[in-house]
Amino acid sequence: METSLKRDLRSKEEKRAAALADLRPRTTLSFYRYVHLEDPQAFRRRLLSKWNELDCLGRIYVANEGINAQMNVPTSNWTDFDAWVQAQPELKGIPYKLAVEEGELPSFFKLMIKVKDKIVADGLDDESFDVTNTGTYLTAREMNEYVDDPDAVVIDMRNNYESEVGHFVGAITPNVSTFRDELSKTPELLKIHKNKKIALYCTGGIRCEKASAWLKHNGFEDVRHLKGGIIDYARQVEALGLENKFKGKNFVFDERLGERISDEIIATCHLCKKTKADTHYHCQNQICHTLFIGCDDCLKKKDGYCSRKCQLVDKLPTKTKKVVARHYNQLVRKRQKFEKTRLVRV
Ligand SMILES: [Zn+2]
Ligand SMILES: [Zn+2]
Repeated sequence: METSLKRDLRSKEEKRAAALADLRPRTTLSFYRYVHLEDPQAFRRRLLSKWNELDCLGRIYVANEGINAQMNVPTSNWTDFDAWVQAQPELKGIPYKLAVEEGELPSFFKLMIKVKDKIVADGLDDESFDVTNTGTYLTAREMNEYVDDPDAVVIDMRNNYESEVGHFVGAITPNVSTFRDELSKTPELLKIHKNKKIALYCTGGIRCEKASAWLKHNGFEDVRHLKGGIIDYARQVEALGLENKFKGKNFVFDERLGERISDEIIATCHLCKKTKADTHYHCQNQICHTLFIGCDDCLKKKDGYCSRKCQLVDKLPTKTKKVVARHYNQLVRKRQKFEKTRLVRV
């Protein structure tokens, strides 16, 4: 047990190489639970020890208020993983959301378990309202009815770069880049729909737990949210043979950056602004690292960079690059043709 708790001192590159060399098929999943954890540090150590032993990789947040996990497990270790998770009193009965599709590369390259103040950065003061007064859940079938119902409003609780590549037909998709921003704007945005039925949705459901309680606190009476988010919606649509009313991709916060839910491509390449595309990339220039949508042509032409400038900057000697990094905002970022986006993990 001691050895697996030692700090992993390998560099980012070494971890990546090790993950790439491990060719075992992996199962990607996510789960969350709001549950009071008396000692998050001790809980973290317990998870770290077992999940290292099972060669799990992922990003997991624990806090006094619960756990939010996005990870993968070697499929051959799945039975052991599941048995262990279900044997932990804090996690017993927790529902998993399994990835709709695995990518060619592993979804995560390392195992990171962090103790945080909150499991989702929402910017809310939890003491100021009843966080347990959440909305009731919607099944996939009910969600479809909401999409068709003129007396209902469907709102996307995710960021603009997520809804850009995929969303429910007719949903309101706020132009925000953080969940904190989304929560501060939503009550005003929905004001004109106060008497309508409101349906919220997000990736896996965790954001809606907090958002539904927040909206109810703000005077909205009929607030519901999609259980298990888009990930579980896709599973239910498939299992029950329902009509799929989610168009495009479900953005995910791992190396895959998205899962295809329907064949429609609803976004356009950020670089040429012409070709239909919905694959996200991070600019190869580490100083920039912006998240952008690129078509195959542009990607090839710019060699994986978001712009010519980034392509040039990256070829400079390291010393010069450090100077450039300091002035990057003035030099490049402001003149970029599209809005710069940095991933804010949730
Ligand atoms: Zn393009
Ligand atoms: Zn760039």
